[in-house]
Amino acid sequence: MIDFTPPRETLALAAKVRRFVAEEIVPYERDPRLTQHGPTDDLRREMVARARAAGLLTLQAPARFGGMEFSHLDQAVIFEAAGWSTLGPVAMNCAAPDEGNMFILGKIASEEQQERWLRPVIEGRERSVFAMTEPDGAGSDPAQLKTEAVFDGTHYTINGLKWLITGVNGAKTWIIMAKLLPHDFGNDGPTLFLCDGDTPGIEIERVMNSMDRNYVEGHGVVRFRDLKLPASALVGEAGAAFRYAQMRLAPARMTHCMRWLGAATRAHVIALDHARRRTAFGKPLIEHQGVSFMLADNEMALQAARLAIWHTCWLMDRGVKGRHESSMAKASVSEALFAVADRCVQILGGIGVTDETVVEMIWRDMRPFRLYDGPTEVHKYAIGRTLNHKGTGMTALFEDAA
Ligand SMILES: Cc1cc2nc3c(=O)[nH]c(=O)nc-3n(C[C@H](O)[C@H](O)[C@H](O)COP(=O)(O)OP(=O)(O)OC[C@H]3O[C@@H](n4cnc5c(N)ncnc54)[C@H](O)[C@@H]3O)c2cc1C
Repeated sequence: MIDFTPPRETLALAAKVRRFVAEEIVPYERDPRLTQHGPTDDLRREMVARARAAGLLTLQAPARFGGMEFSHLDQAVIFEAAGWSTLGPVAMNCAAPDEGNMFILGKIASEEQQERWLRPVIEGRERSVFAMTEPDGAGSDPAQLKTEAVFDGTHYTINGLKWLITGVNGAKTWIIMAKLLPHDFGNDGPTLFLCDGDTPGIEIERVMNSMDRNYVEGHGVVRFRDLKLPASALVGEAGAAFRYAQMRLAPARMTHCMRWLGAATRAHVIALDHARRRTAFGKPLIEHQGVSFMLADNEMALQAARLAIWHTCWLMDRGVKGRHESSMAKASVSEALFAVADRCVQILGGIGVTDETVVEMIWRDMRPFRLYDGPTEVHKYAIGRTLNHKGTGMTALFEDAA
């Protein structure tokens, strides 16, 4: 039986989160420290202090770090509530890239590494980056990884160029993906390394001007020039970076879906309110079929997105890896939610493209969601391959029943 009714305590906590975000975080959407390169670290720290005071900071952290260690389904309900403002997840320390980085470091980093690089991020004192994407190498296809690491038995030396790396300015905890060249001391291949952001050899060339403003300190171009790290910088095993990235894959896709569902719902609420009040041709906009159909499309899309998220979470909570389902959810939810935001802009008329409402910002902030954590086409490519090799869907359910 499929049953993903969220527990009552989870719904109560979500209501508390929703109140906190609406009352304490939404006002920051007009703060000048929300720049073209996202919230400044100063703004982030101020919002984090509010979440800490409200008892709502890093709720998803492992219990051993004082967190609630949510089930995937609990997380879906709480993160949707946090996403009501694009700044909500930043305040509650459950935004990308920190949320995914905390997840992966909690699974594979050594105890010593966790104390040094994970704990300060969980406590909201520091931020983290995940440096994989490259202008002429890794992107949709991580196998194109070009950044190289050479090991001499005591130190790694890393050289390469990365871009679109979120939050580089001022981040302490850096996870770097590089191709470890063959050496005499063990495995080689794609490998994760961990170091401080101010290590000599990390050169931040610039922060890119992007259409979104919700990620702290924007997205940077970074050169690693003879970045020298000790043997202890290795995270997990050498050559296992893609396997570790897979562990993070399904949960990270889903948390993006959860947060954006909250933002799209807010845009829909604003558009609905407008359509009830604004009149044209002798009646409220909502009484024109063209407008009511757009609102109905939104309502159906939000409902379908929530069900796809909750269903995938329910599977993952039962131990199913959910790679296929999370791919379907990520592709369909990202496309559907952006279409919701776009219809909201349309319903608002001219003010939809101005900052008179937050809908314009949600639209811009949400657009990149169709690209990161796998562009839609790459997910469809993966879904197509599964269809070719295994046949059609509902696989997990039928496997369970068998
Ligand atoms: C806002 C934002 C934040 C980001 N933050 C980070 C970060 O912190 N760290 C990091 O490492 N990276 C980050 N990225 C990079 C992100 O992971 C990549 O943009 C993504 O993996 C796609 O890679 P690419 O940009 O190189 O596009 P490409 O790989 O060049 O792909 C371009 C397009 O080609 C098409 N395509 C590719 N493969 C296929 C296929 N198999 N079938 C059909 N079509 C295909 C798709 O339409 C795709 O959009 C971020 C990106 C954005 C937009």
